[in-house]
Amino acid sequence: MYNLKNILYAAVVGDALGVPVEFKKRDTYYIDKMTSGGTWEQKPGSWSDDTSFTLPLMENLVEHGDYDQLMQKFENYMFRNQYTPDGEAFGIGQGCAKAIRNWSINHYPALKCGDPSVYANGNGALMRLAPLAIHLRKVGKTAQRLELTRNYTCLTHRHPRSVMASFIYLEILHFLLNGEHLTEILKKLPNHLESNLQDYSEEWNEFTEFADIFQPKFKQTNRQDIKSTGYVVDTLQACLWCALNATSVDEAVLLAVNLGDDTDTIASITATLASCMYPNDQINPRWVEQLRNKTLLDSIIDPFVQMELKNSD
Ligand SMILES: [Mg+2]
Repeated sequence: MYNLKNILYAAVVGDALGVPVEFKKRDTYYIDKMTSGGTWEQKPGSWSDDTSFTLPLMENLVEHGDYDQLMQKFENYMFRNQYTPDGEAFGIGQGCAKAIRNWSINHYPALKCGDPSVYANGNGALMRLAPLAIHLRKVGKTAQRLELTRNYTCLTHRHPRSVMASFIYLEILHFLLNGEHLTEILKKLPNHLESNLQDYSEEWNEFTEFADIFQPKFKQTNRQDIKSTGYVVDTLQACLWCALNATSVDEAVLLAVNLGDDTDTIASITATLASCMYPNDQINPRWVEQLRNKTLLDSIIDPFVQMELKNSD
């Protein structure tokens, strides 16, 4: 039985462990606990935009809100500091900021807010979509999962490469949440996607950008050849590499947070993957205790988990 709360909290922990060392160069530091200061001068246990965009998605799913209502929540984060540990929004990515401005100032339709440029392929959609995979874990129709995954991605990132990254990540989470093993999922995923993406030719054309992940020896890739930037292809690759090369959730998160560069997002996504891979392994409870504003986290995560457990009865 999956502990959904653990999966969601593990992601917040990964985010918070990574915040103090975001943009730091690999191997100029070593993190194995919650620390303060660093790039954003935050207190220990401060989580960032990754969580601040994930919380509105959970809340919106509980409220059965539409895409506009979700964009409004994103706006409330960026302009009104809601969904933050200490009442301050920090470190918001360019792609997400532009999408929110498109919605609130330029009045674009929600599904057209993401930048469609090839240069707008940051990890800002990938970082917030795990609750959607949880929400869709019992949905057997692949086409339905893919359509929703594309739509939720397009709110902030509309280039087919970003959508393809979300397809890969959310389908992996879907199969993990249904008890399959990551190595087996990676083996079957190219064929699975090819046969289900006939109506998504632009996205399918981007598949080659992600080809390394599906090589049989991907797990054995040298650490120095794993890039940990905020580019969505690098991020997905780094997170899967960490998940494959660890034997517990804590170990995976520490591998990720010590890669350098986009540490918070990579640790957060890695924590999600690893906690889906190891349903009986809890993220270190001491790290969970140290998270800032647990009242806010609980107030959004608990109703979401309760709804999801009720839906699986
Ligand atoms: Mg962040």
